[in-house]
Amino acid sequence: MTDSARQKIEQELKYSAHNYNPLPVVLSKGSGVFVWDVNGKKYFDFLSAYSAVNQGHCHPRIINALTNQANTLGLTSRAFHSNPFVEFSRYVTDYFGFDKVLPMNTGAEAVETALKIARKWGYEKKGIPADQGKIIVCGDNFHGRTITIISASTDPDARGNFGPYTPGIESIKYNDVKALELAVQDFNVAAFIVEPIQGEAGVFVPDQGYLSEAKRICSDANVLFIADEVQTGIGRTGKLLACDHENVKPDILILGKAISGGVYPVSCVLANNSVMEVITPGTHGSTYGGNPIACEVATAALEVVRDEKLAEKAQELGEYFRTSLKKIDSEMISEVRGKGLLNAVVIQPKYGKEAWDVCLKMAENGLLAKPTHGDIIRFAPPLVITKIQLEQSLEIIKNSILYFG
Ligand SMILES: *Cc1c(COP(=O)(O)O)cnc(C)c1O
Repeated sequence: MTDSARQKIEQELKYSAHNYNPLPVVLSKGSGVFVWDVNGKKYFDFLSAYSAVNQGHCHPRIINALTNQANTLGLTSRAFHSNPFVEFSRYVTDYFGFDKVLPMNTGAEAVETALKIARKWGYEKKGIPADQGKIIVCGDNFHGRTITIISASTDPDARGNFGPYTPGIESIKYNDVKALELAVQDFNVAAFIVEPIQGEAGVFVPDQGYLSEAKRICSDANVLFIADEVQTGIGRTGKLLACDHENVKPDILILGKAISGGVYPVSCVLANNSVMEVITPGTHGSTYGGNPIACEVATAALEVVRDEKLAEKAQELGEYFRTSLKKIDSEMISEVRGKGLLNAVVIQPKYGKEAWDVCLKMAENGLLAKPTHGDIIRFAPPLVITKIQLEQSLEIIKNSILYFG
């Protein structure tokens, strides 16, 4: 690392809260699958801002939409109608096949929104007694950082000393249909919220059939099935939605991250009328939610996914990527898992070298990825990556791991 990069990092540590532990690179430019640091060194981006940048950095079509709209009309609030929102609401509901959309900005806000809708639906439609509503969540989930959401978390770092916690949440084991069957027997359960693949937990892919079984169990018990596809949605796992792998249609769909291609904070909650109609004027809102820039950016970002066939690419290249990773002959790789281009390698420490050291070595060799939970490295490049670029990336990954044995 150069002195100037080191100085910048020290400055950040001095002036910013220490709520992340970044890899020691200072980035200043991005284009497609690449980012560059302040010294001009080029890297493959294998994090894609936690799968927000599926369309690649600074995609010209999305940036055009951003700058055009920014020069025309930025923010109206929803106190008035705006043409971009009128168009976007029709476009996004048609795109995902739901009656209605409720736009927000961040993933966590969209999750909060979904939970509010589910509770209100529980009281007004299902007939749950006042204030008795329950939400079922899964262990090791990641749904964001608000107080209610961390109340649903089982991660001590996410929860610790942030209490008192929001009541009315029950946690069951992920990938366990029996546990769900038992939990929904309680009439007061309004909803079950689940990640189709647990991203932050380390890319845990549930058994084939788990999602469709879970959906059936919820339907039979009159419990809403909420899919948090903030990370898995928008082509990442080889289908438009990860739920599509099992032909599951959620009652409430939560989207964020790549819905804007990493260009602007946009999130959405989608549902059909029977659910969304519990939301009436004054019951929920957001000043920036559904603003004209967000609408134009998200529309362009979704058009790119469709026109460039990014889901199909993720499916095909994902198979190739996992097959190639499994061929790397190293004791340090104890497992390769994932779907589409959302993948992870579990690293077995060797001679005291861990996932973090592998990530530092990969950075040195020109590829950025981040360890999670100490021993897991997630590999999630922008979906615009070409086969040749993927092969070059695999060389870097292989050489970096084999460097340690
Ligand atoms: C990232 C993420 C969120 C939270 O999104 P933010 O925009 O960071 O608030 C929620 N759910 C899942 C599954 C995520 O991966």
